[in-house]
Amino acid sequence: MNTKTERRIALISVHGDPAIEFGKEEAGGQNVYVRNVGEALARLGWQVDMYTRRVSAAQEEIVQHMPNCRTIRFSAGALEFIPRDELFGHLPEFIEKFLKFQQENNLTYELVHTNYWLSSWVGMQLKKKIGCKQVHTYHSLGAVKYATIDDIPTIAAKRLDVECQVLETAERIVATSPQEKAHMRQLVSTKGEIDIIPCGTDTRRFGSVDRDAARAALGIKNEAKVVLYVGRFDPRKGIETLVRALRESKFYGDEKLQLIIGGGSVPGQSDGIERDRIESIVDELGLRECTTFAGRLSQDILPTYYAAADVCVVPSHYEPFGLVAIEAMASGTPVIASDVGGLQFTVVPEETGLLAPPQDVPAFASCIDRILENPEWRAKLGEAAKIRVRKKFSWDGVAEQLSELYIQLTEQPVPVPVPVPVPAKELATA
Ligand code: UDP
Repeated sequence: MNTKTERRIALISVHGDPAIEFGKEEAGGQNVYVRNVGEALARLGWQVDMYTRRVSAAQEEIVQHMPNCRTIRFSAGALEFIPRDELFGHLPEFIEKFLKFQQENNLTYELVHTNYWLSSWVGMQLKKKIGCKQVHTYHSLGAVKYATIDDIPTIAAKRLDVECQVLETAERIVATSPQEKAHMRQLVSTKGEIDIIPCGTDTRRFGSVDRDAARAALGIKNEAKVVLYVGRFDPRKGIETLVRALRESKFYGDEKLQLIIGGGSVPGQSDGIERDRIESIVDELGLRECTTFAGRLSQDILPTYYAAADVCVVPSHYEPFGLVAIEAMASGTPVIASDVGGLQFTVVPEETGLLAPPQDVPAFASCIDRILENPEWRAKLGEAAKIRVRKKFSWDGVAEQLSELYIQLTEQPVPVPVPVPVPAKELATA
């Protein structure tokens, strides 16, 4: 690995396709992460191949994003959406396709960077087959997730086992926050090497629109008090906490109050079920008048929504990182978030927003009131939030740190097996 042009990396993200439109069912932070890391690495001179699973015949097999950055899709299992908890059995086919593609295209990867536990298993098999090294980002830890849900899937034991194996064997694990690293150590294993490299955001995109222009574009009055949620419809995201907090807010019933819930959902699928549930709570609490379900918001329109809001609320029960928080912050909007996981790292309470215990409705209500009642303080928090993201969480900065890590790992000599001394007796008889 001597020259820039020889730098090639495979980013493997079996279930989080980096080339699809963001904000859809089963699309979230991981898709955004892989795509942005890939493109930012390509800008640094890497040849970036992102590998994912093809979910329909209508999808292109190869999507070229930039001259040296592309997504490659393999069919593994039926050409249809398969929930991630049912994908494990299709991974051998994915590996077979990967090896074939690599051979046919004369590609060599010294390093693969895997994303989520399913891809980590793929990476561990590739290490054995092609002798590459592995960097892994979890995006979500089974040990944390299963502690917060009642309905444990049958794949859970496998996932926990794979998550432990990869921590102990990968050349490096990338934790996106100190909190995620602490969870790995407490809940997964004390072995293995972990670096902290955060997620990032596009600081050119988020922060590009000012508040007045954003409100004019969305038809929101100047005096409105706008509370924004952006994300998937998933019970773990805690939208219910936010909705109930607004019922307890001092602004309940005030015609200036507006709640915007942004995020897509597919009727009949799990996110559609959660959306129906949230809509019925909104009705039951008498919040229908002040609530807008904005549907899936493209990355192009999102900066306008963030900039128009007085506050963005991230009420997740758990969040390994939470891209929405830094997107809002980059847009100059303070964030009220659950005091969990990566949100404790990104949001600095009383400086860039506020933290409240997860699922604590009165605590969220009081945080919302404090910010909505104090427009000057709100603006100050927003300004500090913007500065924090620019300093610490840009994709270019993240990619630079990853690039340094990849170079360091690929330049490390492959361990040479130590020759076992042959006993003198055997030498004499040879
Ligand atoms: N997102 C989007 N449109 C939407 C809702 C969400 O583009 O309507 C994006 C959002 O901008 C963010 C990602 O989806 O980049 C969600 O990432 P996060 O880490 O907050 O949550 P996850 O989905 O990974 O749990």
